[in-house]
Amino acid sequence: MGEFDVIERFFKRPERQLARAAFVAMGIGDDCALVQARPGTQIAISSDMLVQGRHFFESVDPQALGHKALAVNLSDLAACGAKPLAFTLALALPKIDAAWLDKFSSGLFALSDQQGCELVGGDTTQGPLNICITVLGEIPLQNGQSQALLRSGAKPGDDLYVSGTLGDARLALEVMRGNLQLEDAQFQVARERLERPTPRVALGQALRGIASAAIDVSDGLLGDLRHVLKASRVGATIRTDQARAMLATQSALLTALANPGVPTDTQLTARRWLGYVLAGGDDYELAFTAPKAARAAVAAAAASAHTPVSCIGQIDTELGLRLVDAFGAAVENHFPSFDHFE
Ligand code: ADP
Ligand code: MG
Repeated sequence: MGEFDVIERFFKRPERQLARAAFVAMGIGDDCALVQARPGTQIAISSDMLVQGRHFFESVDPQALGHKALAVNLSDLAACGAKPLAFTLALALPKIDAAWLDKFSSGLFALSDQQGCELVGGDTTQGPLNICITVLGEIPLQNGQSQALLRSGAKPGDDLYVSGTLGDARLALEVMRGNLQLEDAQFQVARERLERPTPRVALGQALRGIASAAIDVSDGLLGDLRHVLKASRVGATIRTDQARAMLATQSALLTALANPGVPTDTQLTARRWLGYVLAGGDDYELAFTAPKAARAAVAAAAASAHTPVSCIGQIDTELGLRLVDAFGAAVENHFPSFDHFE
């Protein structure tokens, strides 16, 4: 099997090409894909690369990997409030392994079909396993103005929200690294979050015209939030008790706290947990801000997107990021954020 057989057999899907979205004028098979933007819209574009050894282990389930490769890209569209339309896939494969490609493409297309986001092209080459996806999404214009959610719109006094739950992916990673012990059922919950993140696509679109700023949490909440604060030239205060409460409602993981049967150095302590919530990474949730007057609108957007959101703090005039407990007392911020080159 050669490069062209791989494209034909695993990625072309002629049956889908017939039924594909009106947006795609030309899919896989020519030198370029052609897409037709609808009048009154903008195209949002984003790329994300997954590299073996850096973003995933060799042992990862290829179906989960196919899901995640697209999910992390859809998460960027969600953060801008864009509706997913199409994507390209640049793939370097060490060898052509039909069983692997079968699973990889099934995970990829399950999410692509669910989101109505069509594969329209790409590139296939031999090399160390590397997956690079570029997604295209649609954002409406209103009176010629973009409705995109940006990092730069947060205002002092705005509420700070996070969708879903944070920290579970990092929890799973630490168990896989042997740094932590968890009961198996709990580990499986966390692992699902690491390997099959849910991009908050519906929520991002529902927040258009409501959120003042948004970002997706991929490198850890504190690190990603700093990008918003910098772009918006504001500061923020996070209530650590509210961040923690967000997790406690999510699963039975709390029961793992201070499990007496586990040696202390691999125990999930409250402090470690807070670190995973605030700086764990790989969450693919949305962090966003909205004026206090928009509280009901935020709740309605969350309900319409079937996605829980939690208010965990607020935006301040004073620059910098502060952590406080339920009584307003300062909590030391010693949580490093993730950087690929550090
Ligand atoms: P070119 O040599 O002109 O770059 P290719 O021979 O690489 O074109 O690709 C042929 C067609 O297959 C193109 O339409 C390209 O977009 C598509 N394609 C190649 N690899 C992939 C892939 N991994 N997934 C989807 N489409 C692909
Ligand atoms: Mg090519």
